[in-house]
Amino acid sequence: MQDKAIALQDVDLSLGRGPARVHILKGVSLAVGRGEAVGLVGPSGSGKSTLLMTMAGLERPDSGTVVVDGTDLTGLDEDALARFRGRRIGIVFQSFHLIPTMTALENVALPLELAGEPDAFERAEAEMRAVGLGHRLHHYPSQLSGGEQQRVAIARAIVPNPAILVADEPTGNLDESTGRSVVDLLFALRRERGATLVLVTHDLNLARLCDRTVRLRSGRIDADAAAAA
Ligand code: ADP
Ligand code: MG
Repeated sequence: MQDKAIALQDVDLSLGRGPARVHILKGVSLAVGRGEAVGLVGPSGSGKSTLLMTMAGLERPDSGTVVVDGTDLTGLDEDALARFRGRRIGIVFQSFHLIPTMTALENVALPLELAGEPDAFERAEAEMRAVGLGHRLHHYPSQLSGGEQQRVAIARAIVPNPAILVADEPTGNLDESTGRSVVDLLFALRRERGATLVLVTHDLNLARLCDRTVRLRSGRIDADAAAAA
């Protein structure tokens, strides 16, 4: 499905070994249009993070297909998958996942450096300014507030100009007003760049900002609805 940003078909996925093995995703099929913003909601443990990581190519399904930006991820080997992720998918986590021994600027430049881009630092600096942190380039993550760290993480996610941006409870570690400004930033960047956004959230106000809400329950899609106008 070339016309879709993301197309999952009959995805089954289990994680863990032996008695800890859990059947997490059970026959999930889902298509997300290009440029669409989808809010992924559901109870804790319903499989939201696992589904998001499957779309992002960080988890492989046991069966079913995952097509992202026209590429069947299930057909790629680890190296090809890592390259694809680096170029086409931006990922934002609840707990930021910045590298503590690198400055903010170095964190943002890293994906471009790994991709061998010659202008990594210039582009990273421009992205730091785009997220309002032009004055914090050389700070380490521990010297930044939670909201600032999440802005750095967003800059790092968006700097390769990914087609798909996925965010797993990006405001979960932030107070309400900081979270709100991070969300505004995420949606503004997505609008400017025309990226597709899939956002896991507990916050129904946040989900309402999306074009569509998909609800998971026990590893199955329970409801899928366009946002009320
Ligand atoms: P959510 O993000 O909706 O809270 P998750 O996708 O994180 O849900 O997890 C879904 C279920 O799978 C949970 O019951 C969780 O305990 C289990 N799970 C997640 N990761 C693993 C793993 N690596 N090994 C075993 N079970 C896991
Ligand atoms: Mg989760």
